[in-house]
Amino acid sequence: MSSSSALFWFRRDLRSHDNVGLHHALTTFKKVYCAFIFDRDILEELPSKQDRRVEFIWESIAELKASIESMGGDLIVQHASARTDIPALAKALKVDAVYTNEDYEPHAVARDAAVRKTLDGEGIDFRTFKDTVIFEKGEVLTQAGGTFSVFTPYKNAWLKRLHDSDLSPREIKAHRASFAKTSLAKELPTLESMGFERTNILSFMRAGMSGAAALRDDFVDRMADYKEARDLPSVKGVSYLSMHNRFGTISIREIASIAYAETLRKKNIGAETWLSELIWRDFYFQVIFHHPHAAESAFRPEYDAIKWPNDKKLFTAWCEAKTGYPLIDAAMRQINQTGYMHNRLRMIVASFLTKDLLIDWRWGEKYFADNLNDFDLSANNGGWQWAASTGCDAQPYFRIFNPITQSERFDTQGKFIRKYMPELKNVPDKFIHAPWLLPPLEQQARECVIGRDYPLPIVDHATQRDRALALYKTVKGAK
Ligand SMILES: Cc1cc2nc3c(=O)[nH]c(=O)nc-3n(C[C@H](O)[C@H](O)[C@H](O)COP(=O)(O)OP(=O)(O)OC[C@H]3O[C@@H](n4cnc5c(N)ncnc54)[C@H](O)[C@@H]3O)c2cc1C
Repeated sequence: MSSSSALFWFRRDLRSHDNVGLHHALTTFKKVYCAFIFDRDILEELPSKQDRRVEFIWESIAELKASIESMGGDLIVQHASARTDIPALAKALKVDAVYTNEDYEPHAVARDAAVRKTLDGEGIDFRTFKDTVIFEKGEVLTQAGGTFSVFTPYKNAWLKRLHDSDLSPREIKAHRASFAKTSLAKELPTLESMGFERTNILSFMRAGMSGAAALRDDFVDRMADYKEARDLPSVKGVSYLSMHNRFGTISIREIASIAYAETLRKKNIGAETWLSELIWRDFYFQVIFHHPHAAESAFRPEYDAIKWPNDKKLFTAWCEAKTGYPLIDAAMRQINQTGYMHNRLRMIVASFLTKDLLIDWRWGEKYFADNLNDFDLSANNGGWQWAASTGCDAQPYFRIFNPITQSERFDTQGKFIRKYMPELKNVPDKFIHAPWLLPPLEQQARECVIGRDYPLPIVDHATQRDRALALYKTVKGAK
């Protein structure tokens, strides 16, 4: 260990255990200062001052700071621009290096390049580590050395490459003697001082490492049932860990090793399926890293030729849960009220927006980016381009979800619909997926008159399906 010092910069890894970059800093330097920046460059772009993510981060940072303090260190927390503030902090602390964990999104790559350049000018080393994913960048490649754009061969190669060491935790506590204190570490800036307000997030999502651990424990007992239960939005079948995965309040190595061990030990199909979802996460990270153009345009550029009709009224109805299709509207209320949306519903509403309403997938992607608690550019972009058939390994363009049959299949008794759509509570199960088919007298009797208490469908699925097919056929070589 050298006698020098370093600054460890937390970003999407808000935990003080099993943290690769922090582990390397603590084992390399005698003194390690820690910092987190509420980055003005990101916060100022947020459309609402009531942002559940900012509050979640704030709570997670409070817990992280207390944890680092309990190990003899401290956390500098500032409301500033990371591009300039990190180099300024490094200079003020007179450190030899800034260590951090890699962030693969294009804007983060650009920010880090700017930080590196400034630090270089000061003679301060800047090092990044793989922590957010199991395999990054070019670690999983085809036999010919190319990148994968189809998931199943990627997954097979991922599993083949996996060794125990890829999943083993990186020790922090044992090296805590290297944590250093500084008078620059003051109280956390309040949410209000940063221009944000409290939201409802804490009423349904516990933040921080403790919140993540509680969800993990809750899910581990249900993991065996994941394969069947994960598609039913009214059932507690998924882990709900995505927000914690997004902000790194739990380690990806920890949860992947739980799933992997279960898969090997018991041939647990639930665990195997869940592990696949974690591999999808790695897959989309490497897609956006190798193909940054996909962040702005179609992964398959020929699809940029589509002339989306982009009817603003239809888009507003989708955003405001007023499409007249109960499962679509219930899903949109779920995201609007909680910031979460079940995966099956994300697939259905994304298909509906693009292939029934004929709206550019980027409009939906942006709406999700603004509203999802777990928003991650790579997974969100991947999910939208999958649904819109413009992405790698996407749904073929001619496969168009029918919003009524999807609803019958995945919310058969309308339990999920009724949870978010109280105006439909008296509609019988038989009509809950298409309430406009309920005879008018029945509508009166059930206090749900379509067109008064609940909208008529804003489009006809069969008509729009034909229009979508025609639109996609304008693309040369459409698949
Ligand atoms: C249109 C669309 C947009 C999406 N946007 C996002 C997003 O912004 N952020 C996000 O994390 N996920 C996104 N997803 C993927 C998926 O819907 C969510 O990860 C999942 O619903 C989160 O719930 P969970 O934690 O209970 O997931 P679980 O089913 O318990 O899955 C475990 C973990 O695996 C990861 N994961 C699961 N499915 C996927 C997937 N398809 N792609 C990448 N990672 C996955 C997540 O980290 C998740 O927490 C999107 C999917 C679609 C179709």
